[in-house]
Amino acid sequence: MIPEQETYQQQLTRMRDEALTRAVRAERDVRAAEDELGKRRRQVAELIEQRDRAQAGAQERAVILEHARDLLEPWGGHGDSWPDIAPAIEELISEARRQTTRAVQAEARIAAVQELHRPVDGLGYHEDGRYEGDRLACSTCGTPDEYATWWPCPTMRTLDGADATAGAQP
Ligand SMILES: [Zn+2]
Repeated sequence: MIPEQETYQQQLTRMRDEALTRAVRAERDVRAAEDELGKRRRQVAELIEQRDRAQAGAQERAVILEHARDLLEPWGGHGDSWPDIAPAIEELISEARRQTTRAVQAEARIAAVQELHRPVDGLGYHEDGRYEGDRLACSTCGTPDEYATWWPCPTMRTLDGADATAGAQP
């Protein structure tokens, strides 16, 4: 009978559509679960990394503290007094690290200054007006002629630890 056959066909179509919808939904759920799993994995990896860093830091501190304790033992820094001394040593270590940072920054600034003040050809100018021979001038202080600042300039002499005002011009 045709109406029942049509109904059966429609039923099959509906079931197929429902199955397809379920399949699409399941695929989406799997993808979401995979994303979530990936996120969790990354979080775990991050936590492991943080733990390792913390452990490395703790180990470093422990080694330094042990060393400090050994050094302090001859002066009576042991036994019951040790817990009182430990924070002071931690503070000294922090201060040493801050000083290292400042030293590195200072080195970088000195390098920048040295980059600016370099010896260049002073065009052989002499104070009596002659242009003769070789004479070096600073690349930044003055110009390489009668207005030159002869090398080494006061800035570089200061950097080298010399008195910048002594014998400024040759
Ligand atoms: Zn200079």
